[in-house]
Amino acid sequence: MEVLVQKFGGTSVQTAENRIHVINHIKDGIDSNYKIVVVVSALGRKPDPYATDTLLDLVSFPAHYNSNRELDLLMSCGEIISSVLLTNDLKRHNISSIALTGAQAGFVTSDDFTKAKIKQVHPERIQHEFETHDVIVITGFQGGTKRGEITTIGRGGSDTTAAAIGASLEAERIEIFTDVSGIMTADPRVVAQARSLDIVTYDEICNLAYQGAKVVHPRAVEIAMQARIPMRVRSTYSMAPGTLVTLSKMRESNINDSRQLMTGIAHMSEITQIRVEMKDEAHDHQSSVFKAMAEAGISVDFINISPTSVVYTIPHTLTDKAIHILESMDYNPGITRHCAKVSAVGAGMAGVPGVASKIVGALTNKGVQILQSADSHTTIWVLIHDKDLKVAVNALHDVFGLGYEFNHGQE
Ligand code: ADP
Ligand code: MG
Repeated sequence: MEVLVQKFGGTSVQTAENRIHVINHIKDGIDSNYKIVVVVSALGRKPDPYATDTLLDLVSFPAHYNSNRELDLLMSCGEIISSVLLTNDLKRHNISSIALTGAQAGFVTSDDFTKAKIKQVHPERIQHEFETHDVIVITGFQGGTKRGEITTIGRGGSDTTAAAIGASLEAERIEIFTDVSGIMTADPRVVAQARSLDIVTYDEICNLAYQGAKVVHPRAVEIAMQARIPMRVRSTYSMAPGTLVTLSKMRESNINDSRQLMTGIAHMSEITQIRVEMKDEAHDHQSSVFKAMAEAGISVDFINISPTSVVYTIPHTLTDKAIHILESMDYNPGITRHCAKVSAVGAGMAGVPGVASKIVGALTNKGVQILQSADSHTTIWVLIHDKDLKVAVNALHDVFGLGYEFNHGQE
């Protein structure tokens, strides 16, 4: 029995019309003799009536009450609705199918409500259902604790559900269906010239995803990579194969992508930059700042340390909390709100000289101020003002020739 996992995002299952495309992909899998696990997200995006954020707007628990358990119960309904609607459609197409919640499908999680960790996946129930059904529709983004509490695993969690069930069932392939043609050289909402990639490595997409390319959740990529299961990111609305995510580009294909320096540009906004001037040169002052941030659960990024100051970034939503902590430590932090991080990712750039200067040149040419930068052998990050985001991402996309026109010129 070969199993295929097909995950459909919120817009893909939103309307009966869209679900016709979903059914076509499922039928295609059945016709190729697969048993199919379908993972669904909640219908649409806010303000659509059953989207996760719309459900959350229904309640406003008092601030002193820890409502996470109830929020998980509420949020889990979105995917349950989707799973039933899709099963209804499948039955009407005479496809034998059954809907299961995450807990019913064997997902055991920790009890960290709203951000639970998948502890185990017990595939027995699904394997049993495959004796009588071709398709098992399971709710993404959720599971249950050993005690039977319903939990959710964090935003983008349906991708992780798909990867985890794929690993547990040793699936042939995990397919992530969404509203774009595949993994692209940049977010097509920001870069009109963005091009769909035929093949990327797990490392590259994981890196892009951690840097903000939310087309697939990085945790899902890690799980697929560890289990060595190929992943495809594809459009729901076409039969095109989309992007293959695999271990090595060379082995799987003779496409000369690997000669390219850069794979893609990712971005992330809503970041605050914090600068703390040290009162004297005692070395433990610097570490005390980061210790205080860690204790408050504030994740820091873009750290630059000098003898006289520390500079770092945090998510915008935690700005007031961080200021409060630093002031209580007698610091007077410099705050720059509304920053964005742009990352140029490419395994091909390791050791290639001149990449950083190309980036700096492209940005300064367009009048984009660089607030901070950092690099590793596969990624260069720059911090800029949010208002410059679109110009900056497009400038980097152009300077590395990632768009369509460049590639036609190369052929
Ligand atoms: P779904 O609901 O199907 O999970 P998401 O909104 O989570 O959909 O992810 C798809 C979106 O990711 C696309 O509509 C696109 O705007 C965005 N995106 C960001 N970066 C990229 C990228 N590099 N390639 C493709 N899409 C991207
Ligand atoms: Mg998604």
